[in-house]
Amino acid sequence: MEADLLILGAGVAGVYAALAAEERGAKVLLLAKDPFPSGSTPWAQGGVAFPLDEEDLEAHLQDTLRAGRGLVDPAAARSILEEAPRHLERLRALGLAFHPDPTREGGHSRPRVRHLGGDRTGALLLEGLRARLKAPIREGWTALSLLLEGKRVAGVLALGPEGPVAVRAGAVLLATGGFGRLFPVTTNPPGATGDGLALAFQAGATLRDLEFVQFHPTALPSGALVSEACRGEGAVLLNALGERFMPRYDPAGELAPRDVVARAVFQEGLRTGGVYLDLRPIPRLEARFPTVVAQARALGLDPLREPLPVAPAAHYAMGGILTDLLGFTGVKGLFAAGEVASTGLHGANRLASNSLLEGLVMGHRAALAALEDLAFPQNPEPLPVLAAPPGILPSLREGAGRALGVVRRGEGLAAFLRFLEDLPLEERPLASRAELEAGSLLLLARLMARGALEREESRGAHFREDHPKEGKPRHTLFRKG
Ligand SMILES: Cc1cc2nc3c(=O)[nH]c(=O)nc-3n(C[C@H](O)[C@H](O)[C@H](O)COP(=O)(O)OP(=O)(O)OC[C@H]3O[C@@H](n4cnc5c(N)ncnc54)[C@H](O)[C@@H]3O)c2cc1C
Repeated sequence: MEADLLILGAGVAGVYAALAAEERGAKVLLLAKDPFPSGSTPWAQGGVAFPLDEEDLEAHLQDTLRAGRGLVDPAAARSILEEAPRHLERLRALGLAFHPDPTREGGHSRPRVRHLGGDRTGALLLEGLRARLKAPIREGWTALSLLLEGKRVAGVLALGPEGPVAVRAGAVLLATGGFGRLFPVTTNPPGATGDGLALAFQAGATLRDLEFVQFHPTALPSGALVSEACRGEGAVLLNALGERFMPRYDPAGELAPRDVVARAVFQEGLRTGGVYLDLRPIPRLEARFPTVVAQARALGLDPLREPLPVAPAAHYAMGGILTDLLGFTGVKGLFAAGEVASTGLHGANRLASNSLLEGLVMGHRAALAALEDLAFPQNPEPLPVLAAPPGILPSLREGAGRALGVVRRGEGLAAFLRFLEDLPLEERPLASRAELEAGSLLLLARLMARGALEREESRGAHFREDHPKEGKPRHTLFRKG
C-alpha cells in the first residue's frame, strides 16, 4: 500500500483532512484501528463553537484566553478562530444543517455553540463528512510505529487484519485523538490510548503540557457524559443535602469554566457524599437532549423525575504533540491535528466546544501543508514499537485516578512515579494492539506524572493541593533522550 498522504485516525480531524486532500487530487489512505464511527468525535454532544461575527471573534478569543489561564498562544487562537466562519460555511454547503440558534456553554460569554440533531453533533458531523469522502476508511488497521529514513517520516508499520504491513507515504498525518483511557473513569471511547503521541515521541517530536487533562464535571456513573449544554439551558447542580452549591464557588454558577466546576463537584461530593444534576428545569428535555435521556435510562435513572448522580471524569487532553499553525510537528514528513496535537489553542484548560473546531481547521490546514512537501525515500525502516504487558492496565489506571485526578499532591505524584518506573516498558520490533496501547499509556503516565510533579502551582485543569496558587506561566516540554 502506498499513498501521497497517509492519515491515521478517522475522527473529525482525520476525515476532514482527507476531504481537503482529495479535493486537491491527492491519493489518500485513511487508516483507523476501530470500525467507523470511531474515536471521541461521534460521542460529542454539545457542538462546535464558531464566532458569530467580527465583534464576537474578539469575545470568543477573550473567553478562550480566560479559560486557558495564561498558557493559550494568542496568535494561534486568533488564527484558528479567524478561519472558523469559513468552515461553518463549507460544512453548510456540504449539507450539514446546523441548528439556527446557537447555544451557550460554560466559559462562553455568549451563545455561539452550533449543534446538529439536538445532542448528536459529533455523530452527524462525522457521518456527513464521511459521506462525501471518495477514499474508503480502512478499519481494523492499528499504526504501531512510524517508518523513518534519515530524519524523514515516510509511512507507518501498521497491524492489519492479516498481520503487519509497511505502508509507505509521501507524508503522514496523525489524527489519533486523546488518551482519556489512562483514567479509571473517563468519557472517552476504548481506543483513546494516546498511540499517536507515543509514535511521534519515538520519532523525535516534542510533546507539550501533558499534565493538563480536562475533567468533565458531570459524567454519569457509567462514564457517559451529561453535556455542558444542559447546564447552559437551565440544569442545576445539587449536593447530597439538596443544596445548589455552584454560586458559592463562582459568580458564573453552573456555567463557570470546567476546571472550577469539576473541583467544586469533587469537593462537594467528598463533603456531603454525592453530587446530582437536576435536568428538570430544561424545557422539552427529551427532545433537546435525547442522548442524555437515553443514557440515563440505560442506568435505570429517570431524568424527567429525579436529579442524576454525577461525578468528574477524564475528558480531554489539552496537551499533545507540539505543532505549528500548519500542523507540522518539526519532524520532516510528520503532521498532527485534532486532540493528539498541541497548537496552543487550549492552554491549561479547553473552552467547551473549541476542540471540534480545532479538529476542522487544523485537519484542513495540515492536509494542505503536508501535500506541499511530499517525498518518497527509497528504504525507510520502522522505528521500535513501545510496548507493555496489557495486564498492567488496572493498576496503572487506579494509580492515575488517585495521583493525577482532579486534585493532586506532590507525595502522591512522587509515589506514583516510583510505581511507574518499576513497570516494564519495552522497545520491540513488533507488538499486538493491546501491547501497543498499554505501552502508549505507560509512557504518557510517566511523562504526565513528571510534568504534574514539576509543576508546583495550580493552573487551569492542573490543581495541586500543596501548591494552590498560580505561578509564572510556562510550558512543559517532553522529548525522547
Ligand atoms: C463524550 C464526549 C463529548 C464531547 N463533546 C464535545 C463537544 O460537544 N464539542 C467539542 O468541541 N468537543 C467535544 N468533545 C471532544 C471532541 O469530541 C474530541 O476532542 C474530538 O472529537 C477529537 O477528534 P480527533 O479527530 O482528534 O480524534 P478522535 O475523534 O478521537 O478519533 C481518533 C481516531 O484515531 C484512531 N486511532 C487511534 N489510535 C490509532 C492507531 N494506533 N492506529 C490507527 N488508528 C488509530 C481511532 O480509531 C479514531 O478513528 C467530546 C469528547 C467526548 C469524549
